Amino acid sequence: MSVLPDIAALKELMVGWRHDLHAHPETAFEEVRTSALIAELLISFGIEVHTGLARTGVVGVIRGHAPGPWVGLRADMDALDVPESNVFAHRSSTPGKMHACGHDGHTSMLLGAARHLAAKRDFAGTVAVIFQPAEENEGGGRAMVEDGLFERFPIETVYGLHNWPGLELGHFAIRTGPQMASYDIFEITLDGQGAHAAMPHLGRDSMVAAAQLVTALQTIASRDANPLDAIVVSVTQIHGGDTWNVLPQQAVLRGTVRAFDARVQDLAERRISQIAQGIAATFGIRAGLRYERRYPPTVNAAGPARIAAAAATALVGADKVDLDPRPSMGAEDFAFLQQARPGAYIWLGAGPGQAGCMLHNPGYDFNDEILTTGASYWVEVVRQVLGVV
Ligand SMILES: [Zn+2]
Ligand SMILES: [Zn+2]
Repeated sequence: MSVLPDIAALKELMVGWRHDLHAHPETAFEEVRTSALIAELLISFGIEVHTGLARTGVVGVIRGHAPGPWVGLRADMDALDVPESNVFAHRSSTPGKMHACGHDGHTSMLLGAARHLAAKRDFAGTVAVIFQPAEENEGGGRAMVEDGLFERFPIETVYGLHNWPGLELGHFAIRTGPQMASYDIFEITLDGQGAHAAMPHLGRDSMVAAAQLVTALQTIASRDANPLDAIVVSVTQIHGGDTWNVLPQQAVLRGTVRAFDARVQDLAERRISQIAQGIAATFGIRAGLRYERRYPPTVNAAGPARIAAAAATALVGADKVDLDPRPSMGAEDFAFLQQARPGAYIWLGAGPGQAGCMLHNPGYDFNDEILTTGASYWVEVVRQVLGVV
């Protein structure tokens, strides 16, 4: 069985919520309509609702028929600054924004599970359904933790889920240890001396230094880090200059570092600084570095990872649960919840991901075929942690 019968009956409702959310995308900490819709639905399910955590976050508290521990189930609910290229009826009605990561689907799945759990309450303990803002870039997960998520609600373990294009439809993948990478950003400012482009010897050229620097930074992964430690250093922006015949005073480079280990992050920060200073010295200019650690790696604790795997296996069978997937160099702010409490983050296969249906693509749309599988997974997690009474 891959879908619980009670959840299968909710499919039409869940698709309706999902399409409504997709048509009304809201980005980081501005999920006002989304948050109000979630709160309204949870109240209509008879669930105790707490709003305003990290501004737009919502927590629903579902008490079982018998006392027991607290478990947290988390969905993200923010959209992205991506102009949508789809033309179907539920396309984004907000120019420049869209649900290109499937958080509309994550929200609908958790709403479906919440409705079912509130109707049955056949478990010993309490379920907190956590709807989190600003997963993309802005660390809504950290904001929820800082706003007292775990003080206000005595959640002992916490579970997260992401739809995963490229993984077979309805399959699951989870591993103990790192599942997704850390997310650091850096900005290097190269200050030279502007000059006429025809007379470079009269200035100090920041552009040639920038070009050398992009190449040199690639040696951090190939020559500084242990070959068995995963790391990516990507320069994603180069800014400098305004016209054809002027060597600009300044060039600015920005980029991101991904890793699974704080030692590797330390190494990257130290080497980016040294390499930038060294290149700057070579060309007689100055370099400044801003290095910011945004998200820690998403690391699954052994106990919750076992429970997540057992829940997925109970639902779809062992042959559809990969217990040793390759970690992703992508990042996820569920990591902040996992730093506060032991947790497990699982991927739910969304199918081949062809024809633009990859995460963050302007042609992406959440695959509605997995709504009921995801909601059933949440119910199975509750069964695994809190049992059935
Ligand atoms: Zn995303
Ligand atoms: Zn996402």
